[in-house]
Amino acid sequence: MQDPFGRHVHYLRLSVTDRCDLRCQYCMAENMTFLPKTEVLSLEELDRLASAFIHKGIRKLRLTGGEPLVRKNILSLISSLSRHLDDGSLQELTLTTNGTLLEQYAAALHQYGIRRINVSLDTLDSTKYRRITRWGDINPVIKGIQEARRQGLQVKINMVALRGINEDEFNDMLYFCGQEGLDLTLIETMPLGDIDEDRTDRYLPLSLVKAELHKNWTLSPTAYGTSGPARYMEIAEIGQKLGFITPLSHNFCDSCNRIRVTCTGHLYLCLGQNDGKDLRTILRESNDDTMLYQAIDNAIGRKPQGHDFFIDKNNSSPALKRHMNVTGG
Ligand code: SAM
Ligand code: SF4
Repeated sequence: MQDPFGRHVHYLRLSVTDRCDLRCQYCMAENMTFLPKTEVLSLEELDRLASAFIHKGIRKLRLTGGEPLVRKNILSLISSLSRHLDDGSLQELTLTTNGTLLEQYAAALHQYGIRRINVSLDTLDSTKYRRITRWGDINPVIKGIQEARRQGLQVKINMVALRGINEDEFNDMLYFCGQEGLDLTLIETMPLGDIDEDRTDRYLPLSLVKAELHKNWTLSPTAYGTSGPARYMEIAEIGQKLGFITPLSHNFCDSCNRIRVTCTGHLYLCLGQNDGKDLRTILRESNDDTMLYQAIDNAIGRKPQGHDFFIDKNNSSPALKRHMNVTGG
């Protein structure tokens, strides 16, 4: 699939639920109203939709949420999707998780062909972890990461840089990643959805973080890329990669190869734009995939050139009303 700007779209992030067992402050409000079950695609519908995208040329599929591992019977979906890995139509099946349930799922994920996962962890301090996630316990997450490594999964930590919360922890996190054999990606907060606090207080440009890290670590540029928006550096002291995702201070849209589908079957062509297409209606109207393929083609033909994010010092309201747990990270 090729969009009007000549970019090849081969990466789909599919949200399998809007629900989560945590309430990270930058992602959700404390009192979230989740979608009624009838609006959320069944596992069979998710499978059919993902398979239609694979038929259209998607080669990398990331399951996300909400928290993908809290979706009931998620393993049956993963096991079913793994047939596309077996026949070579899909190159990579992966997921982004908060890690709370990883210890129990790691072996099965590996068994069904998943080789790399992203785990979100913004701090190593249990008190701060509880504060950021509003009630989470860090211990199962650390155990989950270790179990995933034992099962042979590559793990990349996603850490959102939060001014006044974890800005003193980047060195510790790098030591931890070195010890456990993990890559790390730092992410700037993105203005998605109403949350309970003012985001401008938390926004920490990664250019500042990088300048600080240069004082303690030998960072060298690497050609490595996971066909995503992160720019990677190699850290000589720990032999791991460090990525920076900077949607606000650096526009990464030129090389965008991805699309997102919500757990209600809504296709978003860009994380930072509202244009998209409801695929659920088409999915539920007919068992024939022809209309689905057509709708996907038409939508890709409208993929916008770039996003409209910005954090305005005079206006702390979100650039987009939808929360990250709706579109997935
Ligand atoms: N629950 C899973 C998790 O936390 O990894 C998957 C979904 S979560 C929405 C995916 C990623 O989005 C996480 O790494 C999270 O830190 C990130 N995220 C959520 N809200 C964000 C925001 N407003 N700005 C930047 N990153 C955000
Ligand atoms: Fe849940 Fe992930 Fe959002 Fe945190 S970032 S509230 S773990 S969906």
